[in-house]
Amino acid sequence: MTDKPIVLMPEDVQRILGKDAQRNNIMAAKMVAEIVKTTLGPKGMDKMLVSPTNDIIITNDGVTILEEMQIEHPAAKMMVEIAKTQEDEVGDGTTTAVMIAGKLLENAEKLLDKKIHPTVITKGYRIAADKAQEILMDLALRITTEDEEVLKQIAMTAMTGKGAEHSREKFAEIIVKAIKQVEDNGKVDLNDIKIEKSKRDGIKDTELIQGIVLDKEKVSYDMPKDVRDAKIGLIDFSLEIKNPEVDTKISITSPEQLQTFVMQEEREIKAMVEKVKLSGANVVFCQKGIDDFAQYLLTKEKIYACRRVARSDMEKIAKATGGKIVSNLNELNPFELGNANIVEEVKYGEDALTYIRGCQNPKALTILIHGGSGYVIEEVKRAIKDGLGDVLCALQSGLVVPGGGAIEIELAKRIREFSQGLSGREQLAVEEFASALEFIPVTLAENAGIDPIDILTELKSRHDSGEKNAGLNLFTNKIENALEARIIEPLKIKSQAINSASDVSIMILRIDDIISSTDKTSGIGPMGNIPQDY
Ligand code: ADP
Ligand code: MG
Repeated sequence: MTDKPIVLMPEDVQRILGKDAQRNNIMAAKMVAEIVKTTLGPKGMDKMLVSPTNDIIITNDGVTILEEMQIEHPAAKMMVEIAKTQEDEVGDGTTTAVMIAGKLLENAEKLLDKKIHPTVITKGYRIAADKAQEILMDLALRITTEDEEVLKQIAMTAMTGKGAEHSREKFAEIIVKAIKQVEDNGKVDLNDIKIEKSKRDGIKDTELIQGIVLDKEKVSYDMPKDVRDAKIGLIDFSLEIKNPEVDTKISITSPEQLQTFVMQEEREIKAMVEKVKLSGANVVFCQKGIDDFAQYLLTKEKIYACRRVARSDMEKIAKATGGKIVSNLNELNPFELGNANIVEEVKYGEDALTYIRGCQNPKALTILIHGGSGYVIEEVKRAIKDGLGDVLCALQSGLVVPGGGAIEIELAKRIREFSQGLSGREQLAVEEFASALEFIPVTLAENAGIDPIDILTELKSRHDSGEKNAGLNLFTNKIENALEARIIEPLKIKSQAINSASDVSIMILRIDDIISSTDKTSGIGPMGNIPQDY
């Protein structure tokens, strides 16, 4: 044994212990919640995000804001992660999830100040979270695909306050129609609904295309501008003399040999185009390249062609038109061709789009968003995605809840009632959990410039007298039955948000030691480099 001090970690590793660690993490998480807070609800404000290269995003969408902010702090990153999970799982409710998590941690801090041990708090939170799920199931209402009106209301609630305001009805109709159209044996894959943008006309001209719109122009100016009664060939190899993906070396010793070689290749291309023509195709979408000579031949045959079409688009076209993607020209026969009433190129300024429309009973289609400005289009796109996500989500579980804070107030009330039966300090944690949920209607009011205390008091008393659907309607600024006010949300938004918010707050509360290396090459990484699958 020597007297030498024991060195456990390299010098550049920093440690924050105990209370300091907790406070540090809670502070960071609260800051994240604070950032998105003002965007919550229909009267929430937007944020302008400017990248180092001066790209601008104007948005109201929680997850978009947090993703773009490049947050570094490890606990803050965990908060961003729940927004992402919420987005992936449900497609909406990201602000709600982050705010509940922030409030749970803020309330936990109060309990920590009262010298309540973190394990007691986390236990209480866990109990409350489980109870919340149980109550949610009890409060949820059942709907079916037939309830089109309700589905539209769900889409509208999702899009409120997201730059889609004036055309909400129309968008809701498009969303519900699109989902019903691509439904296959009760299953819906949102990938079958393409969202494309056009700078022509305004937001209100946004349309549902019974087919696919591609951000592509035809390869040659002289090809027909439109093809009616289109027979569409879908090929996933190149129509080129030289296959660029294969490196070949040819040694040629005389000019005649070169001549023969070129002619040979031209013959091959000719044969290819001939096969396309023989199949009866008058439109070709090619996943790879089409070279000049092939373009020339296709033009001569009055065939409309696009090249380098993304694989994902090829698949959508196949689904929409009933065609098959072929990997060999010998497979291209009339039965493998897709059908559409019309394929046409539409040019507007610098932009050119290819419309494939009028497909019979298409199993993939396009929502074409029109709008003069790119920023507006992008925000409308996020709104429509929220709408699609919410409607799908409501259909999948068939369960919905009233919005406008109604569900949160009812949950809080019932969780509080439940807490009466608990003993000791956990009860305090369960109560704090309940009041964290009330933060949602409070913020909805605050963001609309209405007195939050008045609102909360009235909401609570209305719920106490049995009005379990009473919520804040921000169209009228009054407390009303949210279902009658047509403010409806899928159950899953709330259950997922509460679940992940409680998980992350519990996880953060359990940390009492932050060990971080300032050496970027070491394993633990600088503050902020937490492992992805924490
Ligand atoms: P999130 O990212 O959590 O989805 P949003 O900004 O989309 O946040 O706001 C969703 C909240 O807005 C939900 O609590 C929802 O019930 C509420 N909400 C939507 N429409 C209305 C309305 N007309 N009146 C009051 N609240 C509404
Ligand atoms: Mg939303």
